[in-house]
Amino acid sequence: MKYCRFLLNDQVHYGAVEDRNGEPWIVDLTRAPEEDLAFRLEHGRATSWSFDFEPMPVSAADLLPPVTPSKIVCVGRNYRDHVKELDNDIPIEPLLFFKPPSSLLKPGGIVRLPAASARVDFEGELALVIGQRTTRLQPDADWRAVVRGYTLVNDVTARDLQKTDGQWTRAKGFDTFCPVGPLVSDELDPEAGLIVETRVNGELRQHGSTRDFIFRIPELLVYISAAITLEPGDLILTGTPSGVGPLAAGDRVEVFIDGLGVLANTAQTDAA
Ligand code: MG
Repeated sequence: MKYCRFLLNDQVHYGAVEDRNGEPWIVDLTRAPEEDLAFRLEHGRATSWSFDFEPMPVSAADLLPPVTPSKIVCVGRNYRDHVKELDNDIPIEPLLFFKPPSSLLKPGGIVRLPAASARVDFEGELALVIGQRTTRLQPDADWRAVVRGYTLVNDVTARDLQKTDGQWTRAKGFDTFCPVGPLVSDELDPEAGLIVETRVNGELRQHGSTRDFIFRIPELLVYISAAITLEPGDLILTGTPSGVGPLAAGDRVEVFIDGLGVLANTAQTDAA
């Protein structure tokens, strides 16, 4: 099932996404498969929502980030070509960092380029959405059972501050530095190889395959959950392929994986 999260009449709604004549439409979750009942109940507890909105095209909806994570766990340097382009060493263990939930940005939202940085980069990535509380996942466990689905993220990074700060917290954590969405889907298989692409103003800048991960998804889940309990809705960013580069004010950046739609955002100078 695919789903999204959106605002309608000042209320947060979750809706299932289905194809109608080649165009994605939002329908209410009561029409979703029965196996998603637990998911519906879980989110229904925390969010005001309605079962009875009229179906609408996704393009007509006021989309929100499709997840409300307690934390955003990111993996750095997980594609060999990207490690080389930034002149880093191939990691021998996954390199982890956090982005704060306050950095989340909705599809179509404005990435604000802070005055504190002279170089803000895009990083198109596949993200995992955790589906159930997970502590110390065992290597022989069924890792797919703890993943609710997949979505698109742009791991926006102040590249200069990443180097000069030492810690990455500020460089990765500015408000608006985590565009996510537009939807979550469990109808694809990263282990089979998904093409991750990023375009800036229509020009292809990143093209990589999840087959080229240095650390595969089950390894990442075992490694992360050995240290950190993962909660439903948490995001795990799986790293970016080569081709990262700076954003200028006015640039439109699009992250694409077939089956997950397009995550499009525009960069603007932070007026504050
Ligand atoms: Mg990244």
